Amino acid sequence: MMNDDPPGLYLHIPFCVTRCIYCDFYSDTRISMAGRLLGCLAAENAPRGMGFSAFDTVYIGGGTPSAMPAGSIALLMERIGGRFETAPGAEVTIEVNPDDVTAGKLAEYRGAGINRISVGVQSFDDGELKFLGRRHDARSAIGAARAIREAGMENLGIDLIYGFAGHTIESWRSTLETALSLGPEHVSCYQMTIEGPTPMARMLAAGRIEETGEELQRELFLLASAALTDHGYIHYEISNYARGEGAASRHNGKYWAHAPYLGLGPSAHSFAGGERWWNLPSIEGYCGGVEGGEGPPRGSERLTARQFDLETLYLGLRTARGLPLGFLSRFPAWERALERLENESCLRIEGDRVVPTTKGFLFADSLPLFFL
Ligand code: SF4
Repeated sequence: MMNDDPPGLYLHIPFCVTRCIYCDFYSDTRISMAGRLLGCLAAENAPRGMGFSAFDTVYIGGGTPSAMPAGSIALLMERIGGRFETAPGAEVTIEVNPDDVTAGKLAEYRGAGINRISVGVQSFDDGELKFLGRRHDARSAIGAARAIREAGMENLGIDLIYGFAGHTIESWRSTLETALSLGPEHVSCYQMTIEGPTPMARMLAAGRIEETGEELQRELFLLASAALTDHGYIHYEISNYARGEGAASRHNGKYWAHAPYLGLGPSAHSFAGGERWWNLPSIEGYCGGVEGGEGPPRGSERLTARQFDLETLYLGLRTARGLPLGFLSRFPAWERALERLENESCLRIEGDRVVPTTKGFLFADSLPLFFL
């Protein structure tokens, strides 16, 4: 099932003003290094022999791209545009933090061809935002969403988190209602997972917080799914909702469907032709490699046919598109698995495809195991 969709381009800006207590992503607070890093980002080449046709998505993620000094995103896009071809009508997204949003930056983003803004809101409850270590409050998140609309941006995404210590059904309902009142085209609801050496993991180990139980996690997930689908959103991936098919993230869809993508910047991942490679997570190593002409230090792997099928199974059962029946028949236990998971209302057959139900999304991590 090689995917020959047009490729996506990901630009990783690895800087944050402060670190949130739950975050395990690679990012760095030395924003003074931004100028050097952005120069390297604009100069990085794909590995030799890896050509990409015109990109129909560009995604500027991080880190916190909106924390970059005024003018730097426009300059980056200009330089990227001079080196890589972008397809007409490309989806061009930037991630922003609410308290970075200004009319000036929004005008800069629009001028640079950015047509989709994803705001890292996480919660509309000030106490929760403080606990999570976020820089903004609910008021500035609402203000950012309104400013994005006033700037003429028609594609607004809001990212939320649920299931952290102390989270309640009532506060989650209230956050979802506020998000809905802003009418975003896209909403992401990510379940909190405590991973890696984060301050939150240390708080858990020290007994200062408790992990949210599975039952409450399920209730929070189902509440989001019901609230958003009741308002006309499509629950198109386990954590993602779109106001209509056209509002689904075209870029993230490439990750879930093994479409080719090129990631530039420290820790960025790429995939093409069955090969995956990734830049190592070090700003110094990255810049040194790009400036020296040998390219950033990278790891790589070539997926075996078996790995490819297992990934396809895992990813496919997390999206509402599901998987073709013909693909599932590659797995020896597929008929028994399908019958059982249909009986348990986790999967259903739609035409020649097998798609997960909302209940199936709840158990998405374990569904693939039934087929093996
Ligand atoms: S702003 Fe985003 S990337 Fe930066 S520390 Fe917080 S969650 Fe992580």
